[in-house]
Amino acid sequence: MAALRVLIVESASRDGQRLLDAIQGGTTVIEGCLVADPEILASRLQAEQWDAFVLSCTLPELPALDAMALFRKQAPAVPVILSIERGAMDFPFELLENGACDFVFKSNPSRLLAVIERECAKSSLSRAGQEDVAGTIDSLPASEGIARFQQLSSNLPECYWLADAETRAITFISAGYEHIWGQHVDALYADYRDCLTYVHEADRERVADAMQAHREGGLDIRFRVLRPGDGLRWLHARNFPVRSEGGKVLSVGGVATDITGQLASKLNLSYYTHFDALTALPNQWMFYDQVQRMIALSRRSGLPLSVMVVDVDRFHEVNQALGYAAGNELLRQMAGRLSGSLRESDYLCRLGGDVFGILLPELADSQQAGIVARRIIETLIMPVRVAGQDVFATASIGIGFYPQDGQEVHELLSNAQLAGAQAKQQGRNSYQTYSSGMQDHMRERMFLEIDLRNATLCEEFVLYFQPKVSCADGRMTGVEALLRWKHPRRGIVSPDQFIPLLEETGLIVQVGRWVLEEACRHAVEWQRAGLNMPSVSVNLSARQLQSETLLADVATTLEETGLPPSCLDLEITESMLMHNAETAIRTLSALKKMGVTISLDDFGTGYSSLAYLKRFPLDAVKVDRSFVQDIAADSDDASITRAVITMAHHLKLKVVAEGVETPEQLALLISHQCDVIQGYFFSRPLPADQMTSVLLADQRLPSNHLNTGSRKPMALFVAVTGFDEVISWLGSEGHRVCAVPDVAGATQWLSGNLVDVLVCGAPRKGFDSAALIRLAGELQPRCERILLADSRQWSRKSVAELSGSGLVHRLIHLPVEPDAFQRIVDEALTRRHISEEYSRLSHEVEVVERQLVQAEEDRRRLSDENMALQAQERQGYRVLQEVLTALPTPVIGVDVDGWVALLNEAAIHRFAERGIAPGVALSGVLPELSEDLAGGRVSIDGIDYCCTSQRIGMASQAEGRLFLLTEIGNRT
Ligand code: C2E
Ligand code: CA
Ligand code: CA
Repeated sequence: MAALRVLIVESASRDGQRLLDAIQGGTTVIEGCLVADPEILASRLQAEQWDAFVLSCTLPELPALDAMALFRKQAPAVPVILSIERGAMDFPFELLENGACDFVFKSNPSRLLAVIERECAKSSLSRAGQEDVAGTIDSLPASEGIARFQQLSSNLPECYWLADAETRAITFISAGYEHIWGQHVDALYADYRDCLTYVHEADRERVADAMQAHREGGLDIRFRVLRPGDGLRWLHARNFPVRSEGGKVLSVGGVATDITGQLASKLNLSYYTHFDALTALPNQWMFYDQVQRMIALSRRSGLPLSVMVVDVDRFHEVNQALGYAAGNELLRQMAGRLSGSLRESDYLCRLGGDVFGILLPELADSQQAGIVARRIIETLIMPVRVAGQDVFATASIGIGFYPQDGQEVHELLSNAQLAGAQAKQQGRNSYQTYSSGMQDHMRERMFLEIDLRNATLCEEFVLYFQPKVSCADGRMTGVEALLRWKHPRRGIVSPDQFIPLLEETGLIVQVGRWVLEEACRHAVEWQRAGLNMPSVSVNLSARQLQSETLLADVATTLEETGLPPSCLDLEITESMLMHNAETAIRTLSALKKMGVTISLDDFGTGYSSLAYLKRFPLDAVKVDRSFVQDIAADSDDASITRAVITMAHHLKLKVVAEGVETPEQLALLISHQCDVIQGYFFSRPLPADQMTSVLLADQRLPSNHLNTGSRKPMALFVAVTGFDEVISWLGSEGHRVCAVPDVAGATQWLSGNLVDVLVCGAPRKGFDSAALIRLAGELQPRCERILLADSRQWSRKSVAELSGSGLVHRLIHLPVEPDAFQRIVDEALTRRHISEEYSRLSHEVEVVERQLVQAEEDRRRLSDENMALQAQERQGYRVLQEVLTALPTPVIGVDVDGWVALLNEAAIHRFAERGIAPGVALSGVLPELSEDLAGGRVSIDGIDYCCTSQRIGMASQAEGRLFLLTEIGNRT
């Protein structure tokens, strides 16, 4: 075979040299030339023949789009391959859409040779395919019984079929179809055109046209089909009529033969046996071979090696949504990106379908594989443009190491696959290294999945309810419905175990619908029993939010159960919003329009800021359990939570804290102005009947935890001696007081109760007042802290340190008169009482303000809707007027007082002589037309009319009567 001639548009730099090197050393002899000057390029295109072009996208002196235009003009059939910079911000989608067939990265062009070979093979094959086919096959005798034909054909490798001559529906197809096409026959029986879906896109139209033209026989065509997994096959198809004895065409028979082997040997192409036709990557056989070889090397060198299995996430969704061709394009682009994120010594292949394999030989250590996996994930994060759309394709990666995870290729690969499946399960777009426990885990999961598929909704699933309570008055603001699976053998299975499975299998949509109905049904029952049940929250899954039936499901459920929409709250998570923000906004807005409220669940676990979330129509955020858990111990979590609460309030969102388990957490959340809490502290999730008891008892948060006006301020005295009388006097004055001797006692109090004033005794041996003051500052930032100090050296030092920190509000030097001490504490308590009252009131004002804003939004929405309606009505009125004007028969409208308000052309024309005009009294000009025109017959100026008289209420304000006169005939 003659050498292939490749023109590389690239400067004579390191990049250019790397590209030139990459195309040498294969079985095909390739002659490469570098060009970077526009004029030289134009003249070489004109003067010489080329087999492929490699085009750099970053040459300042030669814009890639210009070069593309030149290629198309001078050599339209020659394939163009792009060479791009890794990490380039603007991925050359435009060029790919404009005919470039693939791309390689300049930093790692190892795939370039294979891409060139593939593209050249493709074009020579398609030239060969277009040449006339020599020789014919013996036409199958029409006289042969159809049954015989079927029996015979089932045992042959070729694909035979029979189709109805009239409808073209397939009536029989031999097993050869599944063998050649790699597709199941069912879809073909359902629609004969299904076979076209898998025909190479370049051939599809030609095949469809030929099929149409040779409906009754005479088809003789060569074309390519793309078989899932192992790529391209060349077929030769012919058809012939099967006639009745009378010569009528009954059916059309056909035969398709796989001629890939013939063509390949004819063209001396071993290419397709080693490479994947779609991505130009080595295929799985080459990969096994290579891994085997590297294992042998590794055995000698002692250096570990790693195999990775990269599985594209949700590939079938792309295939379904954008079509088979778009799916192929996605795979091709992913192949390009993957190779760009590897070293030249690494080995990338397509294992089949949407799965790629990578071999990393001679690893320095096992962490290196993790670094590569992370780099792959980062590279794939950029959107891929297919079929004019940005697709966010991610992948799940499984990693296995030789020798520990498998002694030979198949074991190593299947363990890496298992790790990949686990990565997929843990939320996709991540990687996992194989561990021996995975086998058991996957087996366990498989059994669970089988059971889940067999579980019947109303028998094995049950809803639990967990109360949410208000921090303002301690009453319940609603319940969250939480799903439980009562497994016949395992008992209650946690949602964390089975919800992801439901998601994956798609069963979640059906189960989610059941949860919605069941939750609403219970809520209505409680409401009808007169119990305090302001709202029920239902968790939505990502699939449900994307489901087209969600809006209808919610509307129907509300209608059927009778739950007012404002009593239903839907919980969604941040990641669900990120996935497809615009659609999510549309769906959520529609839900809000119905009156349903939306809460953002697990807030703080994702990446988005509250400011970003402003775009979504939300009512509340639920601060994730993980923040609340450490809020009392970790001051970072405390300040994050405080910031979230402040910001959320700023955005007019309500704040719900989840997972509140202890009084310490509650105290802190209340002091940070959290609106609602949910968690074991108030109640665990309960079955419906137990929930009923809680509601019947009207259970509330204990008032000593709350900030309500009825709460009396409290002073805590720690290690204060000599003022017992003062302390009991304060108690008798209505303040709550407590005295404890040491730090341990104080800690207990501070964690369980709201303390308004802390009076801390003078520091001494065994009593670290500094530590106590710091703890109080963290646990209860709003409490006023008073420190006693005496003149001992030890005390002076410690006090000086504390005073500088701003943690002490007031210092009392001992000795002090009991009266003065009493006055100071009394004043502090009163001050705290007033400031508590103030902040409680301002919080209430804020809540009311938020409600006002909501009410204003609702009002504005209603007014907008109203205006739209009015405009519609006005429009309708105008149309009506036009119709009336154009009517050939007279129409006259009068207002309530009998004045003519409306006249059409026909009426003016007909009754002009009577002096009819807008504004005159009808009785004055046409006395014949009265309201009680019985029978509808009237005669005016010698003409008989049938008169329809009707009350009208046009444009809602006008009211009057309309007369329609239809001529019956001339009396004379
Ligand atoms: P989630 O929506 O964040 O639900 C709150 C979870 O926190 C519940 O776990 C609840 O039992 C638990 N929890 C509540 N208070 C506390 C507490 O004080 N301490 C601790 N440690 N945990 C507390 P559960 O019921 O196991 O549900 C887990 C997740 O499963 C839910 O998280 C939710 O994402 C999902 N889920 C539950 N039911 C449904 C459902 O009907 N549909 C959907 N799509 N997801 C559901
Ligand atoms: Ca939730
Ligand atoms: Ca949550």
